Amino acid sequence: SIPVPKPSATRYIAVANQKGGVGKTSTTVNLAAALAQGGAHVLVIDMDPQGNASTALGAPHDSGQSSVYDVLEGRSTIQDTKVPCPDFETLQIVPSSINLSGAELEVADLAKRTELLHNAVEAFMRDTNEQFDYVLVDCPPSLGLLVINAMCAVTEVLVPIQAEYYALEGLGQLINTIELVQEHYNPILLVSTMVVTMFDRRTLLSREVYDEVKKHYPNIVLDTTIPRTVKISEAPSFGKSVIAYDPRGIGAVAYVEAALEIARRSPSVLTAIAQKRRKH
Ligand code: ADP
Ligand code: MG
Repeated sequence: SIPVPKPSATRYIAVANQKGGVGKTSTTVNLAAALAQGGAHVLVIDMDPQGNASTALGAPHDSGQSSVYDVLEGRSTIQDTKVPCPDFETLQIVPSSINLSGAELEVADLAKRTELLHNAVEAFMRDTNEQFDYVLVDCPPSLGLLVINAMCAVTEVLVPIQAEYYALEGLGQLINTIELVQEHYNPILLVSTMVVTMFDRRTLLSREVYDEVKKHYPNIVLDTTIPRTVKISEAPSFGKSVIAYDPRGIGAVAYVEAALEIARRSPSVLTAIAQKRRKH
């Protein structure tokens, strides 16, 4: 396996897009696994009540298990909730729970409701002896309070874009939400990365979507695209990332390449993207 360059400080990345089925969870778990395989220390936080990221990384998330819901409501800590991924020594997961779907996060007063995840992550990083290179947060398909919590807890947003008709539809709304969070809660938040998923090289459409995204966001979109391949969709049913399930397949290879591209962006490209944003 190829070692990935380590960032000088922990990188916090939320994987977000309010559209369902665009590859958020697949991207979160497979990037996390690729980074971990390359030697990085990675924490995945599953903020989607569906718990697909937890499943895909082999983390138990039944009702007896403490979850990120308990962390947000102050009944548990990240330290006591995180579980190891069986396939990668340096990968850990804070599992989700279906309870999260009903979460109005009512324990907090309104002003603090957006900061629950941020505070929990900060407390964890202060108290733990472990050094993490990456914290990846898998978001549910919405722009609600859970996603706002994720955006307040990170410095980067990674947006997966499915290679299909209307790929860019809704992107404006997502960017607006991110700008709102920047303005009110988290001024250093940055859309650092876009990745085109379910790319089908046999179709002109996939290429057209890629070119369109590249035209609008030239510095942000990865050169690497994620191919549509059945192995990526099969892997979760075995409780595995595609990196562990089919390490030599085109899906795993693409996610390893994407992980390298993301790792190499630290920190100069990120600074360049941030400066470019400030000029606008
Ligand atoms: P989201 O988290 O945005 O809802 P998922 O990652 O769960 O999206 O992907 C939606 C569906 O598409 C899932 O069934 C997943 O297994 C499948 N899928 C995701 N990426 C790929 C891919 N590159 N090739 C084939 N199937 C994929
Ligand atoms: Mg998902």
